[in-house]
Amino acid sequence: MKIEQESYEKVIASLHDGLYFVDRDRTIVYWNNAAERISGFTAEEVIGKSCGDSLLTHIDSEGCNLCEKGCPLAKTIADGKPREAEIYMHHKDGHRIPVSVRVSTLTDENGNVTGGIELFTDISNQTANELRVKELEKLALLDNLTQLANRNYIEREIQGRFEEKRRLKVPFGILFIDIDHFKQFNDRYGHDVGDEVLKYVASTFIANSRPFDLYGRWGGEEFLGVIRNINRADLETLGNRLRTLIAGSYIMHTDQRLSVTISIGATLVAENDTMDGIIKRADTLLYASKSAGRNCLTMG
Ligand code: GH3
Ligand code: MG
Ligand code: MG
Repeated sequence: MKIEQESYEKVIASLHDGLYFVDRDRTIVYWNNAAERISGFTAEEVIGKSCGDSLLTHIDSEGCNLCEKGCPLAKTIADGKPREAEIYMHHKDGHRIPVSVRVSTLTDENGNVTGGIELFTDISNQTANELRVKELEKLALLDNLTQLANRNYIEREIQGRFEEKRRLKVPFGILFIDIDHFKQFNDRYGHDVGDEVLKYVASTFIANSRPFDLYGRWGGEEFLGVIRNINRADLETLGNRLRTLIAGSYIMHTDQRLSVTISIGATLVAENDTMDGIIKRADTLLYASKSAGRNCLTMG
């Protein structure tokens, strides 16, 4: 059976996964529809740019910039070996999206490597998040700016977690999160740019949360994560991963990269805890992170 080139092109364009091709210099030469949807960048915006040009700025879970060193595509173009990795891609709106990538080489008819292919899958529970937003909107429990749960909903959620702990002994943890020096940021760049930051910080929480965890906006530039069924060490790791992802995220503002950092207070539910008690404890731990120099997490 002979398949026409046109049919291949149609299949590739309509794939559910993002797909792009680069030449040997990592200049993007093809970008499919799903790549546009997942990254927010249109084909027009990326074709002709080098993927190492600080455009997609892939980072790993430690926040290391893979485009400068350790780019899986560059390695594969160099040694011909296919690779797989889980990384975090920069979305045009600023947040970080977890993607699973598979890379391999493009070759000409003589087997010479002419470039690379990257296929990437969005692993951020997008559909579940869209349902969640609709549900919260209906119940007036949504914060309109960030699309996160509002304070009212966070309180209900924590009550629910206390119930679950009492009946089923399932533990939970709280992350109290506050953006660092945000007043300064607003004063410098304006309130509207500040709002863009609040949105990408919130989207980073959503895109990187486990389906049964909840992130909400507590007020202003403060957020609360209610993390279900977790132990101390994992809560600390999870909080630090979010912190690193935010520090490695940015929005573009008149050709400038703007980013912020967050400080976190993290605590696990204790015997005889109350809602006020656990929130106050997390808030005090957050304060300790601020005193320690910010962009850090204090566990307690
Ligand atoms: P720290 O590192 O100690 O947290 O310093 P900070 O400046 O972030 O803390 P502070 O509580 O003094 O300021 C919070 C600022 O957050 C004040 C206000 O300008 C900003 N903010 C609160 N809500 C919003 C909002 O909805 N949009 C914008 N753009 N800014 C907000
Ligand atoms: Mg604050
Ligand atoms: Mg602050």
